[in-house]
Amino acid sequence: MTTAIFAGSFDPFTIGHKDIVERALPLFDKIVIGIGINQNKQPLFSIEERLAAIRAAFADEPRVAVESFDCLTIDFARRHKAQYLLRGVRRVADYEYEREMADANKELGGMETVLLFAQPQYTHISSSLVRDLYRHGYDITTYMV
Ligand code: ADP
Repeated sequence: MTTAIFAGSFDPFTIGHKDIVERALPLFDKIVIGIGINQNKQPLFSIEERLAAIRAAFADEPRVAVESFDCLTIDFARRHKAQYLLRGVRRVADYEYEREMADANKELGGMETVLLFAQPQYTHISSSLVRDLYRHGYDITTYMV
């Protein structure tokens, strides 16, 4: 069984994130979406809110599980016996960071990273953009799952 971990902050989980998971489903038997708990950051949406929103978005997809985790991504991946880390790339700026993380996770945990390019209509969507809009009272529903 091939399992991939899609880990991130997902504060909040956007339609861009959902698109990555949906397009990756044909590649894996199971995808575990992991919400990483970052003690140093004050999130806009609580872990419980993020868990509930993502679980609702994949309620009809038994091959997707959603959990939060408070450890290194590779340890979370090991716990799930996952072979792959799934990530999305929107533009060159993402590439640098993803390359660094992929190299570290390969070295530390022997984990392969599978990158999918964002579809053009989602390349401008980021959690930080959605947080900014939300804080300033804008409607964010078009970006949410
Ligand atoms: P992190 O804090 O780990 O960067 P994010 O929640 O920001 O977590 O993103 C998780 C993954 O989803 C990253 O690989 C990121 O590049 C990707 N991603 C974020 N937004 C989009 C989008 N609109 N389209 C495709 N991939 C995206």
